[in-house]
Amino acid sequence: MTARAQIGVTGLAVMGRNLARNFARHGYTVAVHNRSYGKTQSLMEEAGDEGDFVPSESMADFVASLERPRKVVIMVKAGAATDAVIDELLPLLEDGDIVVDAGNAHFPDTIRREEALSARGLHFVGTGVSGGEEGALLGPSIMPGGTRESYESLGPILEAVSAKVDGTPCCTYVGPNGAGHFVKMVHNGIEYADMQLIAEAYDLLRAGLGASAAEIGEIFAAWNEGDLESFLIEITADVLRHVDAETGQAFVDIVLDQAEQKGTGRWTVQNGLDLGVPITGIAEATFARALSGGVPQREAGRRALPANAEPLQVADRDAFVEDVRQALYASKVVAYSQGFDQIAAASAEHGWDIDRGAMARIWRGGCIIRARFLNRITEAYERDPQLPLLLSDEYFTDAVGNGLSAWRRVVARAASAGIPAPAFSSSLAYYDGVRAERLPAALIQAQRDFFGAHTYRRTDREGTFHTLWSGDR
Ligand code: NAP
Repeated sequence: MTARAQIGVTGLAVMGRNLARNFARHGYTVAVHNRSYGKTQSLMEEAGDEGDFVPSESMADFVASLERPRKVVIMVKAGAATDAVIDELLPLLEDGDIVVDAGNAHFPDTIRREEALSARGLHFVGTGVSGGEEGALLGPSIMPGGTRESYESLGPILEAVSAKVDGTPCCTYVGPNGAGHFVKMVHNGIEYADMQLIAEAYDLLRAGLGASAAEIGEIFAAWNEGDLESFLIEITADVLRHVDAETGQAFVDIVLDQAEQKGTGRWTVQNGLDLGVPITGIAEATFARALSGGVPQREAGRRALPANAEPLQVADRDAFVEDVRQALYASKVVAYSQGFDQIAAASAEHGWDIDRGAMARIWRGGCIIRARFLNRITEAYERDPQLPLLLSDEYFTDAVGNGLSAWRRVVARAASAGIPAPAFSSSLAYYDGVRAERLPAALIQAQRDFFGAHTYRRTDREGTFHTLWSGDR
């Protein structure tokens, strides 16, 4: 076996085969391997003439077909399968080889694997790859972690196959060990929040205003021409205008209203709790999916709970639509601001030194949350790389401030009409909380001191205090 492949991919299900084709289309010689040989053979039949592939049936031949230092991309089911593939690869690799896990690994697993492989003289690069199967083929957003040294040889290949926006690759070095998978996790969490906010805007227009799905599709298509321009708004317009071929009904009406999840939203929220970062938009979005799937609770609630709601009285439909647009934009800024806070907190905790502006830049193309306004986030972090609160950047202060009255009206009207808008309303509550001069946290500290002698600090002098409360009861 001649070692002539520049990069190898093992795991040739939808993602791996498309990534392998993407490498080949960019002129790289690509070694390909899959646990069961059938997928390798079908890839060769479908795409063998697209570029230079070196197929192997055994892992040993696959490794032997790679130029040194070897670059092996693992694209298998996340979890135990990744460990199984690493175990099979380890005895076949040599010092300085680079193992890339491009699956959706949980970042603590990546930290563990990186430690184990670096002890063996290997580079381990946990990388986020976003954009689904189409992204993998046509150019994903790529978020690689690991050593800077490994990025020197691997980076140019990943940048070449990544999406490009204004000629800039949607791939950059993120940081050591788990940083790449961490950023991909938060990306997915933000995706949850973005989707939930869009769904709430739809619900307000559908259940509140009484517009048809197709009409709302047109509204979203118009919104996609402005500040909200994004992949998710664009596909929402298409979905809402889609008619079910069998029944002739709006497609969205024949879909069961129970949203599923694979787990990255949950991981993001769990990590937000661990770090103590209020990522309320992502959390509400994750819980909203859980609520939708709680069938017995929903059945009981539907039967037992009165609404006491007042239907929306909308005199000016266009004005209401514009209010909802502004509320959506403001809530979206909050969700992103919180997600970037989470990245900053984890970066500090793990010593990753993540450049948040660069993360916004590589999310502009190839991934599900690609959006025009990510440019504004990059610019905000360029103005101040240490910005403590994205919302406090002058651009966002203005953008959100201009829509503030509309945002308050929408949340108030949703509450009066009994239309659930958890992400809209919790984002507004966060906004008011983070800008408050004084919070009722003072009362909570006093309560804690009362029942648990947890002490408190005073506004008028330094130090830690405890009050002897017994006489007060
Ligand atoms: P997948 O369905 O998650 O996994 C199937 C692949 O894993 C097959 O190649 C399978 O080999 C291999 N595999 C499973 N268990 C194995 C084991 N014990 N040893 C060796 N190989 C094993 O594939 P996918 O949808 O293409 O996703 C690949 C990775 O990308 C996952 O980590 C996924 O989370 C991530 N990802 C997916 C998407 C997406 O849109 N699908 C987007 C971003 C990231 P056999 O053919 O032999 O069964």
